Amino acid sequence: MNKSSDTQRMEKIVSLCKRRGFIFQSSEIYGGLNGCWDYGPLGVELKRNLKNYWWRVMVHERDDVVGMDGSILMNRAVWKASGHEDTFTDPMVDCRSCKARLRADQLIDKKGVKQCPNCGGKDLTAPRAFNLMFKTFVGATEDESSVTYLRPETAQSIFVQFKNVLEVSRKKLPFGIAQIGKAFRNEINPRNFTFRSREFEQMELEYFCRAEEGMKWLDYWLEERLKFYENIGIPREKLHAHEIPDEERAFYSKGTYDIEFDFPFGRQELEGVAYRTDYDLQQHIKASGKPLDYFDEETKQRFVPHVVEPSAGVDRTVLALICEAYDEDTAPDEKGKLETRIVLRFHPRMAPIKCAVFPLLKNNEQLVAKAKEIADLLRPHMNVFYDETGAIGRRYRRQDEIGTPFAVTVDFETLGEKDPALRDTVTLRDRDSMKQERVPITELVSILTSRIR
Ligand code: ATP
Repeated sequence: MNKSSDTQRMEKIVSLCKRRGFIFQSSEIYGGLNGCWDYGPLGVELKRNLKNYWWRVMVHERDDVVGMDGSILMNRAVWKASGHEDTFTDPMVDCRSCKARLRADQLIDKKGVKQCPNCGGKDLTAPRAFNLMFKTFVGATEDESSVTYLRPETAQSIFVQFKNVLEVSRKKLPFGIAQIGKAFRNEINPRNFTFRSREFEQMELEYFCRAEEGMKWLDYWLEERLKFYENIGIPREKLHAHEIPDEERAFYSKGTYDIEFDFPFGRQELEGVAYRTDYDLQQHIKASGKPLDYFDEETKQRFVPHVVEPSAGVDRTVLALICEAYDEDTAPDEKGKLETRIVLRFHPRMAPIKCAVFPLLKNNEQLVAKAKEIADLLRPHMNVFYDETGAIGRRYRRQDEIGTPFAVTVDFETLGEKDPALRDTVTLRDRDSMKQERVPITELVSILTSRIR
């Protein structure tokens, strides 16, 4: 696809997100707040499905990982020890012509001359370090002693609770602590829709292991995480494991991969998988004076574990899911004429609504009652949408556009009016093939649950 069709595709995606209630601008009626977004009724379902699936495979389906949920505000000492207060910065440049604030690495380089990407201006300030943490005050006095920050990552609460979690969970190495939660970064230049936001969610695992096994677990987690994306509907050929070269890696890391995805606006990071050695625990040991170590019962050795961290962004993955799912094809309208169909081809596991239920006609009491009964039958098992308004083709189209993988229609055959053998059967329509099969109502729950899990 060429540049302009990629831009058009992105514009269509952003407008669909707003029109159908996936993502809205935060504080929209007041002109918005740059870098902040609200998830609407469908967006929240998609996001929840993603987080639940991550939790399922990273925590529930494993014996070696436990979860936690840390606070967003933490003692300032955490951010001093972790290095964030001094070094969590991006180089910032001001354009003196159009007054834009820019990240130094986003400048255009034309034959060795740096230019502003907004106005092309060459009158730029020298880069200076800009700390990305949001500063705030805890308590009633606003002075240096009450300063802290909104967390820029969830990982640090895992490190500082390492000892508590180890004791209560009685896990042996290797084992992991997982967390999903909000993080905040005062990004210099939020852009590409939700891709770079100032408030976002992370899904992080800190996997503690012996030093000699660090590289092995790095490779293991890279592969696990690639499989995860495939299992939510992102094909392997759109994913790239980019190995960060020595000179670009954090000094304490012995190996880091960025998992990247081909967004319409370019290849960009979804997740970082990093072998962080024992850097974080050692920093907190030094600063707090507390022993964040591990005692190996077998060898009777005491040591500080190393850690491998797969750190994923919820919002970036949601955006990748939407970008990957967006498609246009053709389908016949009511009169059989082919028209363009917008369809979100979500993996059924991720789809916000799993099944739509329609009575063929709105003004037939029996059809309506039966359809409502079926919706109620399915509701305890999945998110269902009942719709009785408009021609059936239009109702299918509305569901295609939001990625509902299945639709059940109650018709006169369900009532046994045409063929008694078809009583209590319904049509089950597949979003992608648009094919319909006739299935007994009694089998619906098991058919659908097996397809959406
Ligand atoms: P980038 O280089 O894109 O700024 P990063 O390398 O600083 O990202 P990490 O610190 O590795 O990101 O954070 C882990 C994950 O958290 C990222 O892979 C991304 O999915 C998510 N993330 C980080 N910053 C943002 C942001 N501003 N908006 C949305 N998600 C983010």
